[in-house]
Amino acid sequence: MSCKICSRPIKEKGYCSLHLKAYQNIYEKFGVWEKALEVSWMDYLVKISKNSLTGEWAKEVVEHLIEDESRNVKEK
Ligand SMILES: [Zn+2]
Repeated sequence: MSCKICSRPIKEKGYCSLHLKAYQNIYEKFGVWEKALEVSWMDYLVKISKNSLTGEWAKEVVEHLIEDESRNVKEK
C-alpha cells in the first residue's frame, strides 16, 4: 500500500509522512478557523486550495480531501 497522493509508503491514515504532516497542519488550522469564522470543513478546504500561500504538499492534500468530500456528498 502506498500514500493516497504519491507513491511513498504509508505512515498513517493513508498518507506518507510528508502528506500526513501537511494533513495534520490543515486539520489543526481548521480548528482555529472554525471558531473564528464558523466555516464548514468544505468551505475551509476550498478557501485554502485557492490561497497562494498554501504550500505544495498541503495543496495536494487539500485537493484530495475536496475530491473525497464531493464523493461523499454524491453518495448521500
Ligand atoms: Zn504522500
